[in-house]
Amino acid sequence: MQFDTQPTASHFIDGKYVEDKSGAPIDVVFPATGEKVAEVYEATASIQEKALTSSQIAFYKWSQWSGADRAKVLSRTAGLLKERNSAFATLETIDTGRPLQETLVADALVGADALDYFAGMARTLTGDHYTLGEDFAYTRREPLGVCLGIGAWNYPTQIACWKAAPALASGNSVVMKPSEVTPLGTLKLAELFMEAGAPAGLFNVVQGRGQVASNLVSDNRVRKVSLTGSVPTGQKVYSAAGSMIKYVTMELGGKSPLIIFDDADVENAVSGALLGNMYSAGQVCSNGTRVFVQRGIKNQFIERFSERAQKIRLGNPLDLETEMGPLASQTQMDKVLHYIEIAKEEGARLVCGGERDSGRNGFFVKPTIFADVTDEMTIAKEEIFGPVASVLDFDSEDEVVERSNTTAFGLAAGVFTSDLKRGHRVVSHLEAGTCWINTFNQTPVEVPFGGYKMSGIGRENSARAIEHYTQLKTVYVGMGDVESPY
Ligand code: NDP
Repeated sequence: MQFDTQPTASHFIDGKYVEDKSGAPIDVVFPATGEKVAEVYEATASIQEKALTSSQIAFYKWSQWSGADRAKVLSRTAGLLKERNSAFATLETIDTGRPLQETLVADALVGADALDYFAGMARTLTGDHYTLGEDFAYTRREPLGVCLGIGAWNYPTQIACWKAAPALASGNSVVMKPSEVTPLGTLKLAELFMEAGAPAGLFNVVQGRGQVASNLVSDNRVRKVSLTGSVPTGQKVYSAAGSMIKYVTMELGGKSPLIIFDDADVENAVSGALLGNMYSAGQVCSNGTRVFVQRGIKNQFIERFSERAQKIRLGNPLDLETEMGPLASQTQMDKVLHYIEIAKEEGARLVCGGERDSGRNGFFVKPTIFADVTDEMTIAKEEIFGPVASVLDFDSEDEVVERSNTTAFGLAAGVFTSDLKRGHRVVSHLEAGTCWINTFNQTPVEVPFGGYKMSGIGRENSARAIEHYTQLKTVYVGMGDVESPY
């Protein structure tokens, strides 16, 4: 089974596709060729209104369902995602440009895993009981209402599932606004929820640029906003949601350190650095783009890093042999190439790559490594979101910890060392929401994921995510007469 690239209509509301061509058109482009593969229209005010009304009605119904019944819908959706993984992967590759090698394992399947995990949680949501003499109290863990998900363009299906799974398990409904760059996969996911028996309106999808999301953030009916995006967008969304005292989860950008001590297994450290800089052509928020290498192994490390980076097979992402595809858009490619030029001007040493792959029409940038990067250089400070690694030298543990933390970001960090005591000591000092020791970019659904500092607030995945999609109601029960001084 394959999905058509042109969706039946732009939006999915109240259990069906809905179109309104009076919204501004959005071209969907296959990043490997630059060719237009579909067209959707931005949600007009009337589409936005339909989505919110239907979502609120669905919330009233769904929140009354038992946890066991909600679990069944989530599990069935997970099953359908797994069954149609190949079609989802192809659509995701066309939408994002990421190779099939990745989309076959990292998108619908990871999304399904989240739905399965939170299906289990739906059945086990409980409150607490408090004995207060004769009286007692208990808490009920209740849903928030309509939750708005706003997605980035790197992993659209996975992002939608990571938001929807805990939200729906907790009894909320969801309106999802995917990135305008990658609008396709989320619509297919909405179809699956309906096929799995969800009430109409439980998972609505509206298309549009930032303004559409901004309108939805400011609507009274939306009680929670979960954004995956950049820090500047996060600042705007957090402020708008904060002014209305809404719940938020912010999964924002990073400039994560990857620290390689000279006692590390070099091949493993290089594997970690490749995964943490080149996977998805570097378009991963938690990437370890500041690769701190202890001076003793610097040359050996750079040599292997560069050799292996240059062997990465670029090409048509729909070809199963391809290991790296294009960037998601022309805009992103231009941004990455601009950072490469700045790095050259500021004196970083280009080890490999450093240019567009001009043999191809799409938005391809060669795997790029800069060495002799210093903390002051722009590429060591700003998130690039492309296949560009910066190697920085260091001498001592204290020095590298301090330099790693000298950033406004705090999404993730990695440490490679054969001294596990040092590994744990170093991560205890790192200001980052997720730290990996002797591996990188592992984000199983069982463990929390989210940022410190400007990289975000709240956590996705794990039982902790439920806290961000529920509120506690305390119920005090008086068992005796009411004592009153009046
Ligand atoms: P953006 O911040 O540009 O956009 C994110 C989403 O927010 C898009 O859907 C966008 O719409 C929307 N948006 C833009 N402006 C507003 C606004 N004023 N109000 C409400 N919504 C708005 O990020 P990108 O899509 O470029 O994604 C890359 C960024 O995402 C990187 O910084 C990356 O680190 C981060 N990211 C974080 C992850 C995490 O889990 N921490 C994971 C993946 C990515 P549109 O684009 O359609 O205009």
